[in-house]
Amino acid sequence: MLPTADGATWDANPSEAFATLGHETRLDVLGALWAADGPMRYEALRRTVAPDDRGNFGYHLDKLAGHFIKKSDVGYELRLAGEQVVRAIIAGTITANPELSSRAVDSECVFCGAPVELRYDDETITVQCTACAGLVGGDLPRGTFMHYEFPPGGLSGRSPEEIVDAAHTYYDAKIIPMMRGICPICAGQIETRVEVCEDHEPIADDNEPISDEDTPTDELCSNCDSRTEAWAILQCERCRYTRRSVLWFSILTHPGVVAFYYDHGVDDPVPLRKLTWERAQIERTVSVDVVERAPTVFRICLQIDEEQLVAELDDDLCVRSVERIPAAEPAATTGDTS
Ligand SMILES: [Zn+2]
Ligand SMILES: [Zn+2]
Ligand SMILES: [Zn+2]
Repeated sequence: MLPTADGATWDANPSEAFATLGHETRLDVLGALWAADGPMRYEALRRTVAPDDRGNFGYHLDKLAGHFIKKSDVGYELRLAGEQVVRAIIAGTITANPELSSRAVDSECVFCGAPVELRYDDETITVQCTACAGLVGGDLPRGTFMHYEFPPGGLSGRSPEEIVDAAHTYYDAKIIPMMRGICPICAGQIETRVEVCEDHEPIADDNEPISDEDTPTDELCSNCDSRTEAWAILQCERCRYTRRSVLWFSILTHPGVVAFYYDHGVDDPVPLRKLTWERAQIERTVSVDVVERAPTVFRICLQIDEEQLVAELDDDLCVRSVERIPAAEPAATTGDTS
């Protein structure tokens, strides 16, 4: 028995369940049921998977029954666990060379406007700036501003730009339910916390002249090794699936924020992808401040042209208020990059 993170225990013996899959015929059964239009009768399934096998086929089916497949009056079909096995195999299938070497992408760094490069290793996409220190440091390559898990199956048939777009959408599809408290992998409950750098050293705007020679403009904060001082950490209590997110992404699905962007020409239901990719300048106007402590309340300001959006966010990522006000000064850039 393996305990899950929320203290529940596993119903099935997991090592036994996975050992069940260690036979080609059984994986072929899952594949055949997955490809079928509906439940399959025993004989049809046997003819499809093992036409020459007359002795052991029933034994293999019995091994899969209960956990991965189910049998009813109309035949055999996949259970959810069986479908997930097949989908995991498809997602992990390497159809082309998955090790992209550094490749130029036709876009610019969110922070400094320099050319960016795409890397793919360990089933993770990294987009990194070729000039500045990017968003996060630590073990990541210098210049990293996007670092998302992405199944190798998603590389197939896509250009580098399309891969990055797909990775953004894939990331959104995982992080949005997590922000609503639901694990996208197991549907368990998400625990959220916010990490705030207590001694943050902001990076000067790369467009500004260097005023203090002792603090180079393109180095990340030495305390948190990040450009941004606040991160949301979202973790499933059950399966421990975890994502880190820049704090202000948490307001991006609020209708008031979507409307604000829409009114300023950003026509994406989740504006994240267009902000970080097509309209990098908008992201540079974002500020996040702590306005109350214990419990913490964050104030996030977004600005486009001559309007500001001010949102207040709890440390459990609930948006408390959203207000639009005229900006004190128009943003230096319109955010219209194309
Ligand atoms: Zn850069
Ligand atoms: Zn810091
Ligand atoms: Zn989970």
